[in-house]
Amino acid sequence: MKPAQFQYHRPTSAAEAVDLAAELEEAEFMAGNQSLGIVMSNRLATPANIVDLSRVDELDFVEVEADAVRVGALTTHRTIAQSTQLGKHVPMLPAAAEQIAGPSVRNRGTIGGSLGEADPAGNYPAALVALDGDITLRGPDDTRTVAARDFFIAYMFTDMAEEELIESVSIPREPFPPVRTGMAFDELKRAAQTWPTISAGAVVRVDDPDADEPVIEEARLALANAADVPLHVPDAEAAVEGEPLSESTLDEAGEAAREAADPSEEMHADREFKLDVAAEYSRRALETAYDRARGAGGGAA
Ligand SMILES: Cc1cc2nc3c(=O)[nH]c(=O)nc-3n(C[C@H](O)[C@H](O)[C@H](O)COP(=O)(O)OP(=O)(O)OC[C@H]3O[C@@H](n4cnc5c(N)ncnc54)[C@H](O)[C@@H]3O)c2cc1C
Repeated sequence: MKPAQFQYHRPTSAAEAVDLAAELEEAEFMAGNQSLGIVMSNRLATPANIVDLSRVDELDFVEVEADAVRVGALTTHRTIAQSTQLGKHVPMLPAAAEQIAGPSVRNRGTIGGSLGEADPAGNYPAALVALDGDITLRGPDDTRTVAARDFFIAYMFTDMAEEELIESVSIPREPFPPVRTGMAFDELKRAAQTWPTISAGAVVRVDDPDADEPVIEEARLALANAADVPLHVPDAEAAVEGEPLSESTLDEAGEAAREAADPSEEMHADREFKLDVAAEYSRRALETAYDRARGAGGGAA
């Protein structure tokens, strides 16, 4: 099937883009068109107006500031996967990006498009929830910031008005100095270049990376495709905090993830299987993050 007819608009600034979205009837932003095109071709969406963001260069950036790392909405998965700055300061983001689909999707797809799609199986939504990041939204009249943990409501539903544009995401640096932090993003895929059955993103900060058994000061864990929204698992974090990582704290964290998860059944993965994978991948991601924090002081994904 082909998409229904629409009018095409190609602004060159974020201000112009939001003004167009506010003025036009049934307008939809288009970024990399890796998801929207499929939805429109199946006529599951029939917007009257498409506002193409591909020339809004101001939304394509990676910036490491004193307090936060910021990534523009139009930054592609490929750029994020290859960013040495992100690899140093927030290695979970490149790790999440490089596991998305195949090269053609990564070359065109953007972080803003992924958040706009709000698929609970998406890599960045879970990564941003684990990292406690913020999403900056620009409307015709003002700009506001929403915590990633409050942004996602359900697949394709977010705390974002129709005329609002995702401008950027930001991740606070202070809680996770690279020299004492490890991050991991691990996913189980049924086949290469497809969506994950379950993914887990974990962050661990230790007290002393050179100690024989460093104590975990702070941990973060979020899962993708384990519920209607990217799933933050505070009970798993609490299970591993305050002591060195051990088999028993990992078991506790895995069980906490199983308890928190409420996954939808899929053709190739029933609920019980996905609960097992949620527990196992939570363990793995926390263990990998801990090993990275302990080893070279975090940094590498
Ligand atoms: C074969 C295949 C496999 C995939 N596997 C994975 C995977 O494993 N993990 C994963 O996370 N993703 C996966 N994806 C999804 C892919 O990452 C998304 O297609 C992509 O991130 C969407 O980005 P886009 O720039 O193409 O957005 P578009 O398709 O252009 O837009 C998607 C939605 O976001 C809205 N939007 C876009 N930009 C903005 C903005 N700046 N502000 C507000 N709204 C906006 C659009 O209006 C639209 O509703 C897969 C896709 C394909 C085709």
